[in-house]
Amino acid sequence: MADKEDSLPSEKPGVVNLPQWEQGWQKATDAGKDPQFHVKNVHPILSKHLEQLTGGRSGLKFLFPLCGKAMDMKWLADQGHTIVGVDGVEDAARQFFQENAIQPTVTDVPAAALNGKLYQGMEGRISIYICDYFNFSSEVKGQFDAIWDRGAFVAINEVDREKYVRLMKTLLKPDGRCLMEVMQYEPSLFPGPPHNVPEDELKQLLGDYNMALLDTVDHTERLGKLWNLPWIKTAYFLIKASN
Ligand code: SAH
Repeated sequence: MADKEDSLPSEKPGVVNLPQWEQGWQKATDAGKDPQFHVKNVHPILSKHLEQLTGGRSGLKFLFPLCGKAMDMKWLADQGHTIVGVDGVEDAARQFFQENAIQPTVTDVPAAALNGKLYQGMEGRISIYICDYFNFSSEVKGQFDAIWDRGAFVAINEVDREKYVRLMKTLLKPDGRCLMEVMQYEPSLFPGPPHNVPEDELKQLLGDYNMALLDTVDHTERLGKLWNLPWIKTAYFLIKASN
């Protein structure tokens, strides 16, 4: 998200809290731009590895943590899946429904901990909760068959990683799968977000969950130049509760 001219205001390098994400969204919107992390089309890694994520099953319940306005939500809903996204910034939901020409219904969700809003469209097949992700839980919408974690684990502050993985495990059904994107670069050179995630650290956090590397993509050309890094890549892991 952060680059030299367009970085999110942050007191500590690499630490970004929800009001600062909100300012980042606002700044992009005011400039008539999309946030830097937004992908204008279906994410190529999702379409390439969808079969691995769904296990070939149809009509699944998908979770998009820290969803932004990812096009992927509409793409999967059009295939008959049910989508639940969570983002702390209301612009994400507003722009998602507007850009996809879907009229949403908007309700307050006063539920004790969640304290947010719910945008729903396509006969309830797409729900976006506006709240702090750490207030979301399986009590809100049950558990999920599949999680597409793109730009989510890498976006949260590093101190929250353990809490995030604990929450992910409670949100995934016993036979559920998660496709997770992580960034890899030399962290002393750039504070993020998106943060560098060492494979060993993720493995340790996941414990007895199974994790397999599906793909890597080199971004040195564009992001390396942007953030002044000699190399940078994304790695995509398929995570399962069981084998
Ligand atoms: N997955 C999306 C967005 C990634 S950027 C995509 O692929 O485009 C990270 C998103 O997380 C931003 O939209 C930001 O508003 C949101 N976010 C950051 N911290 C959050 C938190 N604690 N709770 C909920 N959303 C958060």
